[in-house]
Amino acid sequence: MRKVLLLFLSAVSTIASALTPITLQIGDATATYYEEYLDLFDGVTQYDESLLLSVIDGDMFTLIRHKTLNLIEVVRLVGADAPDSKHPDEAIARFGSESSDFAKLLLEDRKVFLSYDELPRDSYGLYLAYLWIPASYRGETYNVLFNLLAIAGGYARVYSIHPFKASYMEIFAEAERLAGLDKKGLWSDENFSATPPEPLYDPVVYITNTGEKYHQYHCQHLLQSKIAITLSEAVRMGYEPCSVCRPAVVYVGY
Ligand SMILES: [Zn+2]
Repeated sequence: MRKVLLLFLSAVSTIASALTPITLQIGDATATYYEEYLDLFDGVTQYDESLLLSVIDGDMFTLIRHKTLNLIEVVRLVGADAPDSKHPDEAIARFGSESSDFAKLLLEDRKVFLSYDELPRDSYGLYLAYLWIPASYRGETYNVLFNLLAIAGGYARVYSIHPFKASYMEIFAEAERLAGLDKKGLWSDENFSATPPEPLYDPVVYITNTGEKYHQYHCQHLLQSKIAITLSEAVRMGYEPCSVCRPAVVYVGY
């Protein structure tokens, strides 16, 4: 009976969104994902295998990327923003704690895989990463994207301040829309639903005192000076993209 009901429900969702929500088993926990994205990791060509040590917040973690270096590093999710568990607003802090508990359940002391986008670190120097974790579904194991799991469960919003793949951005935006329709997690609170939509894609880029180009964080042309500025502001001021580091260009909406 239960199986029939599940099949029926997933058929309804398929018609509504072309995505099939499924429940994954991850360690002792379960989480919502989408059948269409079980194989997303197949498209990842470069990644680091890491040990996740601890959860700082729902979108920020400590981990060891290189076993030989044994260096503890802080990593932040690309494209997903979890509420701050120490936020002065009680509702935000409550969802922040739920989000952080979800991450702890799925990630702590687990082997994870990290892949990166064009910006390897944010303006605070934290690593920006896609975090993949092994999950079972119908007897098979897949590496699924935690960034997407967090959004699908209503534990994080889409966050497009840092540049990331347009194809992933579409997936994240659709997952967020579905989480909102189902009133999952933070979407169950009207104060959250009423907040303004995600700002347009406008990542941080860097300019220098004397140059006419804008750059990515790691560019070799930033040795003398490095001034953080939003992409839209850099373009407005007449800066051109650097041809060496090839920073993000203006991208309007999704
Ligand atoms: Zn450059």
